[in-house]
Amino acid sequence: MLRIDCPYCGCRDYTEFTYGGAAEREFPDLGNTDIEAWVDFVFIRDNPKGEHAEYWQHQNGCRQWLRVVRDTVAHEVRSVTPARAGSSVGEVAGVKTA
Ligand SMILES: [Zn+2]
Repeated sequence: MLRIDCPYCGCRDYTEFTYGGAAEREFPDLGNTDIEAWVDFVFIRDNPKGEHAEYWQHQNGCRQWLRVVRDTVAHEVRSVTPARAGSSVGEVAGVKTA
C-alpha cells in the first residue's frame, strides 16, 4: 500500500491525497491559441518508468500541495516536499511569472 509522508501531518495512506499531475510539465503560454498545445497539456499523459515527480494535494488532511517523487516501478515514494518550497505560487503551477 502506498503511503505518503506529509511534512505537515505525518505518514498517511495515499487515499487521503489527490493526484495533481506531473510536477515537471511545462504549462503552455497563456497567449498560445494553438489548440493542439492545450490538448496535449490537458489530456496527454506520459507513463514514465522509474522515478517521477508529481503534485499531490493532501485533500483529506492539511490540504497542502506536495511535490512527491515516486518510483513507478517499485511503487514507492522517494521524497515528499512542500510544493511551495523555494517557489512562487505561479512557478508551482508551472506558469512563468514576469
Ligand atoms: Zn498533510
